[in-house]
Amino acid sequence: MAITSFNPPIRTLMGPGPSDVHPRILEALSRPTIGHLDPAFVGMMDETKALLQYAFQTQYELTMPVSAPGSAGMETCFVNLVEPGDKVIVCRNGVFGGRMLENVERCGGEAVMVEDDWGQPVTPDKLRDALAANPDARIVAFVHAETSTGAQSDAETLAAIAREHGCLTIVDTVTSLTGTPLKVAQWGLDAVYSGTQKCLSCVPGISPVTFSPAAMEKATNRKTKVQSWFLDLNLVTAYWGSGAKRAYHHTAPVNAIYALHEALVMVQEEGLENAWARHRHLHLALRAGLEAMGIEFVVPEAARLPQLNTVKVPAGVDEAAVRKQLLERFGLEIGAGLGNLAGKVWRIGLMGHSARPANVLLCVSALESVLGSMGADIRRGEALAATEAALNA
Ligand SMILES: *Cc1c(COP(=O)(O)O)cnc(C)c1O
Repeated sequence: MAITSFNPPIRTLMGPGPSDVHPRILEALSRPTIGHLDPAFVGMMDETKALLQYAFQTQYELTMPVSAPGSAGMETCFVNLVEPGDKVIVCRNGVFGGRMLENVERCGGEAVMVEDDWGQPVTPDKLRDALAANPDARIVAFVHAETSTGAQSDAETLAAIAREHGCLTIVDTVTSLTGTPLKVAQWGLDAVYSGTQKCLSCVPGISPVTFSPAAMEKATNRKTKVQSWFLDLNLVTAYWGSGAKRAYHHTAPVNAIYALHEALVMVQEEGLENAWARHRHLHLALRAGLEAMGIEFVVPEAARLPQLNTVKVPAGVDEAAVRKQLLERFGLEIGAGLGNLAGKVWRIGLMGHSARPANVLLCVSALESVLGSMGADIRRGEALAATEAALNA
């Protein structure tokens, strides 16, 4: 049997990631591969770091892309900062907070959980109480933008509380980076990880991270070796560190870094504030269309992420059948619910290049068409006008 080339179907990606990748970024990916120690590549690495500092809004010297997906950025933060016996407060309000707990345990740390309901942001007073009850805690970990629910937590306030108690912070910004305001240095976040396939609209497989001087001090003054050789910052920085001689540590995914560089150039061209405003504007347009059909949001308005819209499946509707029809008839991907929300919600992403008017109009009209054909109890004939009005507002 001769297996032939794989040609993926054309899709519109409006799930929880990956998002639509801009043609400019795909083109960058296809440029000629050069050596990962080629002087031309090394110059581009420095630019990539500077562009990442802009995206994160930080001057932290250790700002670099980890050569693996967002989960590896997460592990980079935990394995370098958490030593056996360290007490870590973990805030959990969805799937990704649960992964932080897993990381703490695997590093031999002791986790103290601060729990909030799925769909709610982390409650600052609960963190205060946990820190008061655990004065020996060293680190506070939380998710800025919980992609499993669409809730945004107040990272600035949570970090300030952690600092008052002498704790470093580990912050998941995989979905927030460039989609919603994130000011790493101003908010005093310490170890921060993100991903390329959400609001950067780059290909999956890279995880930008940034570490404050205080976080680097903890990472370099450990009593024990970092359990992961690959993610040990004391070693990786020989290649990516500032002023480093760029010695071989691992082979960087050269073409994927071209793609990340291009994505970050596009962020710079648009301007961060404009990118944040665009996500918000398109969120309001999507919301207008969905609400005109009678579809409700899960997350309270003040905590809603513009780039990840979690909405309730109308009563009596088979949510998986709807997603299947959206994919088959319209080439449109939206996300299912996870964990406690499985079967009850859809997660509609408006991330990066996916956050554009044509996608919002497609999503609203395709959903109305599919739900209408299934006889779902929605209001018909009003959603497109409501979406257009919000787009033009
Ligand atoms: C997507 C995501 C991750 C994991 O990123 P991968 O690239 O899939 O490893 C982690 N945290 C949050 C909040 C995410 O949305």
